[in-house]
Amino acid sequence: MESSALSDLFSARAANIKQSAVRDVFEISMQPGLISLAGGNPYLQSLPLERLAQSAAQIIATEGLEALQYGGGQGTLELREQICQVMAAEGIHNADPENVVITAGSQSAQDVAAKVFCDPGDVVLVEDPTYVGALNAFEAYQVEVVPMRGDAEGILPEALQSQLEQLRLAGKRVKLLYTIPNFNNPSGVMLAESRRQQIIDICKKEHILILEDNPYGLLKFDGHPVAPLRARDSENVLYLGSFSKIFAPGLRIGWALVPAELKQRFYLASEAVTLCPPSLNQMLVSTYIREYDWMAQIQRYRELYFERCETMLEALEEHMPPGVHWTRPAGGFFVWLTLPEDVDSYPLLQQGIAEGVVFVPGAAFTTAERSNSLRLAFSAVSSENIREGVRRLAPVLAKAIAE
Ligand code: PMP
Repeated sequence: MESSALSDLFSARAANIKQSAVRDVFEISMQPGLISLAGGNPYLQSLPLERLAQSAAQIIATEGLEALQYGGGQGTLELREQICQVMAAEGIHNADPENVVITAGSQSAQDVAAKVFCDPGDVVLVEDPTYVGALNAFEAYQVEVVPMRGDAEGILPEALQSQLEQLRLAGKRVKLLYTIPNFNNPSGVMLAESRRQQIIDICKKEHILILEDNPYGLLKFDGHPVAPLRARDSENVLYLGSFSKIFAPGLRIGWALVPAELKQRFYLASEAVTLCPPSLNQMLVSTYIREYDWMAQIQRYRELYFERCETMLEALEEHMPPGVHWTRPAGGFFVWLTLPEDVDSYPLLQQGIAEGVVFVPGAAFTTAERSNSLRLAFSAVSSENIREGVRRLAPVLAKAIAE
């Protein structure tokens, strides 16, 4: 038999699996001397690292055989109960640990959701812009990702309704509405409270499952989180949470709170990917929730991010040329800059690097070919570097606008 390239063996689906623009940028941002406003990383320096080291050592010394062994596919009951406490702090008071599936970060829950709900050609509605990891997960299942119209207060219910009608007329099957209602990554936008019930009602009427992704909900700067959609509807919302932003992302512990009717299939699909979530990491998170003042840690994160966000907004005010607009987030990690319509932000990345600053071009977060926006993250950068990074970025944008 004639030999041919092994890449012939890839599935049709694999053609949709691409390196995200965010990955490229991360590699670049490691270069010395650059200020990276690219990475959406939490500022782990504020964690009680020595005490965590003691906890980890103690878990291995006293419960090592359990910590290093396979565990149940749904995750430990202790951690699922604690996750219900965390969700209560977010405003969800009726979660049953039986319906919680612990996953390898909420990223893996997104993949499982795409797998169990979407056939090739099914439509998933997303905010525009939206989280790059979700776009990657959906596209890998050959889903048609359709951006929804929104404004500074999130999805527009009327636009959603009319888009659904158009999609129906075009013979499309809409399965999911994927939304990050609190401090969207990348835009920082929060969905207005007054729109939340309307969106739930529309999705219920149209028989669409809401996939609500809320990793930043507790990081509202004023400390008063807005209740997620799941707090209003336990039947039609599949809720995703994560310890990545409120504790530490390297542990890869996230979760899905799944409507009772859908739980078994979702759990089996998750088990097929990971067998079980990491035992040691679950035990470390459980110890953290049991023995530490985890809410005080979230408060420390909030205060820090608020200060950095303010610094970034002030620096933008001071340095940005006319024609640049930006969001003013009430929580989370990101500010979203928009340039005049005719400026593509992608080529500006190289110019930014030449000036010593890195950002993520907006094209990473949208299904469109090009974007006149860009994402700046303030979460893991010192105030001094935020000011300097914005100062370096401003002439790059000014030049592009003037051309
Ligand atoms: N959803 C959103 C909106 C995110 O910003 C991220 C991480 N950047 C994730 C999901 C993935 O989080 P995890 O670390 O829990 O997989």
